[in-house]
Amino acid sequence: MQPSQKQRLRLRRILLASSASWLYLLLCWLAFLAGYMQLHLQGMLVLSFVVLASCVIFFLLVRFDLNLRFREPSLTLPQMCWSILVVFVSAYFAGSLRSLFLMMALIVLMFGAFRLDLKGFVRVGVFCAICYALLLIALQRREGIELRQELIQALEFFVLLLGVSMLGLEMSGLRQTLQLRNRELQRAFGQIQQQAITDELTGLYNRRFAKTMLSQQKALADRGGYDFVLCLIDLDFFKAVNDRYGHSGGDAVLRQLAGLLQRSVRNADFVARLGGEEFLLALTRTDPEGAQRVLQRLRETMADVQWDECPGLRLTLSVGVSAYRSPEPWEDVLQRCDEALYRAKDDGRDQVVLL
Ligand code: GH3
Ligand code: MG
Ligand code: MG
Repeated sequence: MQPSQKQRLRLRRILLASSASWLYLLLCWLAFLAGYMQLHLQGMLVLSFVVLASCVIFFLLVRFDLNLRFREPSLTLPQMCWSILVVFVSAYFAGSLRSLFLMMALIVLMFGAFRLDLKGFVRVGVFCAICYALLLIALQRREGIELRQELIQALEFFVLLLGVSMLGLEMSGLRQTLQLRNRELQRAFGQIQQQAITDELTGLYNRRFAKTMLSQQKALADRGGYDFVLCLIDLDFFKAVNDRYGHSGGDAVLRQLAGLLQRSVRNADFVARLGGEEFLLALTRTDPEGAQRVLQRLRETMADVQWDECPGLRLTLSVGVSAYRSPEPWEDVLQRCDEALYRAKDDGRDQVVLL
């Protein structure tokens, strides 16, 4: 997934968590209006401000990519701990609705369910235990508590917490498996895509991709980007190579020639194997005469090539060269290359013909 896409997802999650916080705030206000909250209006306003401000802060952290400086950029754990703290603080003031308020901590836990691992759940659990203990101490100091009842309530809370955590772990495991499968699928898809455009024997682009590249080159040239020249290369008497050195010897020659062709062109140019012993070069930002010179040089070097698996072999090649003339279809220029190649063959092979 692209980094920007991940950030967008994180922003969405923060907005979702924020809307849950606002709903929680609404509940607090309802409880306040119904007379349950042991807080004055100022206290409620402070609580509301703190909740809203924290939502804005988390949003801004992600919006301006500041979260990327943290080890865990999704900020799941800090967001959860902060929300749980808010829940416990408001529960302190919730009077007889305290247990109900504390249930919100479980909802917070559900929010993190897809992201936390076991260590994360343990940390959140420990944090909840500390908050709970502090809450009981604070309540004891304020109004005194009935210890037996509070312990049973706490036990219930933590049993629920454990249940939700286990469910969360299950979901988190599912998410990880899905992510893994997704990555494997993407890798396989990339391989298939690569195979679809590659010639198996030489590793060059294949005929199918050559067609795609040619229509792209045409579009570029028609827009006034740059012209291009096509060169159709065919090995002379290649059949005899197979006859003399066997098919595997012929294959080795084709592979070696592919490397030679790739090294003789620039990065912006492209080489494809159209099939058999026929190759296509597309040379960009070159005039036809320049392309002819490149191919003449290549033709001359053929005399000195030592073919790794065919000792003593001397090979020549014939080439048909033609420049693209906008706005003709690219098939036309290929057709001219073909004609030029035929002429090269007819005129005795081992030559470059420009048409
Ligand atoms: P010309 O000078 O007229 O081009 O003669 P040629 O023998 O090169 O051409 P022809 O079209 O008669 O024969 C091409 C040969 O290329 C026939 C085929 O056995 C061989 N060939 C085609 N594809 C492959 C391949 O993938 N591997 C090998 N080893 N040989 C191949
Ligand atoms: Mg041939
Ligand atoms: Mg041929």
